[in-house]
Amino acid sequence: MTGHDVVVIGAGPSGSACAYWLAEAGWDVLLLEKKRFPREKTCGDGLTPRSVRQLTDMGLGTTLEGHHRFDGLRSLAFGRTLELAWPEHPGFPRHGYVVTRHDLDRLVSERAEKAGALLWQEAEATAPLLEGGRVVGATVKRKDPGGGPPATVEVRARAVVVSDGSNSRIGRALGAGRDRQLPQGMAIRAYYNSPRHDEPWIESHLDVRDREGNVLPGYGWIFPVGDGRVNVGVGLLSTFRHWKDVNTSQLMDAFVEWAPESWGISPGSACGPATGGRLPMSLSVGPRHGPGWLLTGDAAGAINPFNGEGIAYAYETGRMAALTLSEALSEGSGPVPTSALARYEDRLQASYGLYYKVAAAFVAIIGRPRLMRLLVGTGMHSRSLMEWVLRIMSNTLRPDELGPAEAAYRAVAAIAALTP
Ligand SMILES: Cc1cc2nc3c(=O)[nH]c(=O)nc-3n(C[C@H](O)[C@H](O)[C@H](O)COP(=O)(O)OP(=O)(O)OC[C@H]3O[C@@H](n4cnc5c(N)ncnc54)[C@H](O)[C@@H]3O)c2cc1C
Repeated sequence: MTGHDVVVIGAGPSGSACAYWLAEAGWDVLLLEKKRFPREKTCGDGLTPRSVRQLTDMGLGTTLEGHHRFDGLRSLAFGRTLELAWPEHPGFPRHGYVVTRHDLDRLVSERAEKAGALLWQEAEATAPLLEGGRVVGATVKRKDPGGGPPATVEVRARAVVVSDGSNSRIGRALGAGRDRQLPQGMAIRAYYNSPRHDEPWIESHLDVRDREGNVLPGYGWIFPVGDGRVNVGVGLLSTFRHWKDVNTSQLMDAFVEWAPESWGISPGSACGPATGGRLPMSLSVGPRHGPGWLLTGDAAGAINPFNGEGIAYAYETGRMAALTLSEALSEGSGPVPTSALARYEDRLQASYGLYYKVAAAFVAIIGRPRLMRLLVGTGMHSRSLMEWVLRIMSNTLRPDELGPAEAAYRAVAAIAALTP
């Protein structure tokens, strides 16, 4: 049995960021990861300026410079193309990176280790450890490096952070569940060799179609990785009435067939099979805290519903959890008071509450294919409108613009009400 200030379950973006910030603040942190780095993780690998800001804050700015940098988003729909540079913002850079999760997650977990966190790899939390209704640690299955049977150990802590991703087995064991009224996404991706692998734009296709040529509410992407490959994928929203009937593998095949020829993507240039996953969004999973525990990242449903971006929100929620815990741990020497953990929810609501509400309503509207076609078709005729949309969707509006964002939503909602 070992004892720590905090045990963090999962060393993806949110768990590693949380462990980093806790270790930086001087707390004794154990970070558990069931896999061994480097490992594959299904993702589009796109880091927006929001993610770059968090990685830079964690001291990884220089390391990022060795990876593929891009300056903005190229949007294509209904035969039109718009190249939209990242906007100016006082808090974010004007560029992003594409870094495979194979490399990225190892870098951030190592950063947490360097800051003083203890990282156990091939160590899977199998259940929360409960005492008198509060979480006091976790039961962990650790792989034996000598090849023997895994050992089961109990680790104890004053608080536990659950950062175990979209499936969140531990979150579910603690009673957290998804609010089905809120949207969810699903997405699939694969790597392809491409002559355009080092372009300075990421590309998104807003008129992704099924085999029959019907436009669906979602988007297809081609993100240059810079190492000979591009990351290609499609994502779809649950607000689309028929989303359960959509076969994402077929949708992906149709997108690959239909994508501009110059990318050179085809079944013959695929580097491996396509893999997919769920995107819990809009803070749809809760409760997000309880006696002795907090949920972060995908485990909390923190993905931005406007664009399916989750890495930045994983880093940010991990950081907010660390800040909340730092305050709570300073209040005494025993288990952290539940009332102090409630401040985490206050932080989440202050940062995302209104924005995610607006976004959830927006994606409910574009779940109707006719409206989606109308909005995208109209938007693609106006660069200034699309620049504004990019700022809203990537959550990079300046603080003085949050009012207009709400106004934009009201306008969209009004169009929706008028459309049969
Ligand atoms: C196809 C697809 C494309 C996407 N593209 C993008 C994109 O381009 N940009 C973007 O910003 N977001 C993207 N996302 C979303 C993004 O991948 C997630 O939001 C992000 O990974 C969430 O980070 P996390 O740390 O919360 O969870 P995860 O990244 O899932 O990390 C969880 C970690 O916990 C470990 N773990 C799980 N259970 C246990 C356990 N019991 N014990 C110990 N360890 C455990 C896992 O091995 C994993 O390392 C995409 C998602 C999908 C499915």
